[in-house]
Amino acid sequence: MTAAAAAIERLVRDIPDFPKPGILFKDISPLLADHDGFRAVVDGLAAAGRGPDGTVVVDKVVGMEARGFILAAPVALALGVGFVPVRKAGKLPAATHQVSYDLEYGTASLELHRDALAPGDRVLVVDDVLATGGTARATLALVGRCGAEAVGMAVLIELAFLAGREALDGLPLTALAVS
Ligand code: AMP
Repeated sequence: MTAAAAAIERLVRDIPDFPKPGILFKDISPLLADHDGFRAVVDGLAAAGRGPDGTVVVDKVVGMEARGFILAAPVALALGVGFVPVRKAGKLPAATHQVSYDLEYGTASLELHRDALAPGDRVLVVDDVLATGGTARATLALVGRCGAEAVGMAVLIELAFLAGREALDGLPLTALAVS
């Protein structure tokens, strides 16, 4: 088992019925509060932005509100590239691209600053949990709207039973742990 997988097993706690009945919430707070654990998962996620010889192969790291921010920002610093936030609708101040996606009940929208990514930029997308893949699919669409290219996605935990991986259309997925 990798150091990152061991840290996730030890420090991510399952909270039943949050935020609503039937959801088993993966609470990463204890992991973030542990320096060695946080370090291990940031290193593990950052590896997704490197080629086989260790060279950095991405120009930007994109993270989604809110827990994606906490992970993607140190991953960007570790890789020596910039961090770009994807936010819920109405939070970004300058001109944005917007993509709406279906939730269990209703829809939600995510936004990305139009000038945050340049055409041709190679992007690593980082989040904490891949569940149904709706958030990832919308984020990948936003990256594409800028003319940039997602080259990988990295998450702490893939909830495999929800098959979110199928939303990635073959994009390489690095999951440090699978539930
Ligand atoms: P989805 O769009 O269904 O793939 O959901 C992914 C987003 O929702 C991620 O940004 C996660 O932070 C959050 N999320 C979904 N399911 C869970 C879960 N069981 N525990 C913690 N976060 C979750």
